[in-house]
Amino acid sequence: MIAPKSPDIDRICQIRVVLKDSDPPIWRRVLAPAAYTLGDLHSIIQAVMPWTDSHMHEFLVGDVHYGAPDREFEADVQEEEDISLAEAFRGRQTCIEYAYDFGDGWDHFVELEAIVQRDPAQEYPRCVGGENACPPENSGSMDGYYDKLRILADPKGPQHPFIKDWMPLGFDPTAFSVEKANILLRMREEDDDAGWVDADNEAMAPARLDRICAWCRKEISDSRSALSRGVQASEGVDTSRLEGSFVVLNVGSAMRQVPARVATADSQAKREGKDLIITVCGEKCASLLDVALQEDVAMADGDEGHFLA
Ligand SMILES: [Zn+2]
Repeated sequence: MIAPKSPDIDRICQIRVVLKDSDPPIWRRVLAPAAYTLGDLHSIIQAVMPWTDSHMHEFLVGDVHYGAPDREFEADVQEEEDISLAEAFRGRQTCIEYAYDFGDGWDHFVELEAIVQRDPAQEYPRCVGGENACPPENSGSMDGYYDKLRILADPKGPQHPFIKDWMPLGFDPTAFSVEKANILLRMREEDDDAGWVDADNEAMAPARLDRICAWCRKEISDSRSALSRGVQASEGVDTSRLEGSFVVLNVGSAMRQVPARVATADSQAKREGKDLIITVCGEKCASLLDVALQEDVAMADGDEGHFLA
């Protein structure tokens, strides 16, 4: 007996994303429903690498380009929300390309490894594997990134202090955590206007987000007490419907997204006039966050709704 063809929402694509010219390979393995669009896949790749989604991107499927609709040039680019993964990976087309930041030129090979049946006990999309850290944004292509790593490895070199300052604090090129990738994926999911196909998935347990530093994204061990910062939402922003849940703040000047819990009406924070609470791991991250928030408030002057993603 031949089983009826299952709908694309129950077919799960196992996809491997690898950064071209990375050596050792910088790669991620993700599971996503075949009904998802290339636009959804863009969000997934941004979250699990992670990139900051602050540059243009484009997919190449065969010889057809797909991208975001708001681009102002390039007439021959198709709408990425109009093509599903099932359609993109059709026939012998098992590898497509994803380009991010046309300046630095981060090219990714996106390979369909397998199609598996949805496991009702699991949530999708989800990251299930990967190795090595994503290069910091704007590190100047694969060559530029590896140059910086070489400079970092030589404390006596003349450029060392500058590059050390430029790199994110505690950057480890070999670091990758599936768990953190999935936290970023959930955050991105909450933040994404595009909407996800199966929106009824349970959100990341807030209890866990409370133990992740909003700035450096490291886990805050249970033995350590976290610091928190209160933030006032922009005037006119009503946070009441989101009480107790997490939102993502765009700290624009720092090009970072930080998770923040919406203060409940009866909380101490609210009584002090704060609407959102951001948790960080210690003084260092707290001061970096403070600087970013101050810059941002200055930049955002009068920009209503700025603080709520
Ligand atoms: Zn931290």
